[in-house]
Amino acid sequence: MNTSTARLFPSPEFPTVPVRGETAAYPVHRIFCVGRNYAEHAKEMGVEVDREAPFYFTKSALATVQTGETVAYPPGTENYHYEMELVIAIGAPAWRVSVEDAAKAIYGYSSGLDMTRRDLQLTARAKQRPWDLGKDVERSAVIGPITRAAEFTVRDQAISLSVNGEVKQDAKLSDLVWKVEEIVSHLSHFYHLEPGDLIYTGTPAGVGAVVPGDRILGTIDGLDPVELTVGAPE
Ligand code: MN
Repeated sequence: MNTSTARLFPSPEFPTVPVRGETAAYPVHRIFCVGRNYAEHAKEMGVEVDREAPFYFTKSALATVQTGETVAYPPGTENYHYEMELVIAIGAPAWRVSVEDAAKAIYGYSSGLDMTRRDLQLTARAKQRPWDLGKDVERSAVIGPITRAAEFTVRDQAISLSVNGEVKQDAKLSDLVWKVEEIVSHLSHFYHLEPGDLIYTGTPAGVGAVVPGDRILGTIDGLDPVELTVGAPE
């Protein structure tokens, strides 16, 4: 067994997210994402919502990008999509928690973008392969500042996204098929959820492609917005 504390190279630092009204930042540990959680989006993707259980994919924590940055158009795609989402920030351990107890594990919420290489995701889906190339894109988990749960309750707030000022997505959080407590409870039966775990809760209808130079603005009433500028490809 290697007991050395020395490192061959520096361990990567976990990214952080600012918290509204806090000087300390929230360190990101893992990123879970819910698929098909708005019926109208599932329809535009040509699939049905699974009413028996939510399903997930993941992104590396190192894919985290704070709001306001410019990120290069990624390699390997000709159909890079925005997806505007409500993000849950876990703030306490949660292991096999009930729906009734799930709220205790929620530290807060933020606005997020699940940027997606749609062409690669759909190719993978058609071939019954994992979605990693489509979804676990470097610098694709964009996130705005976190608002603590004491200051924000999920109801029927508007969730929307515009590209260069033109509205593309416009829905309500009450359209979520799986509610935030149901998601936390369900996921906690598969993972020991810990502070630092983020859960992207899925996107409403209206997803679409962006090109270099586009400015994306995502908003949820009561939360800070999330912004991304798409840069030239590397
Ligand atoms: Mn998504």
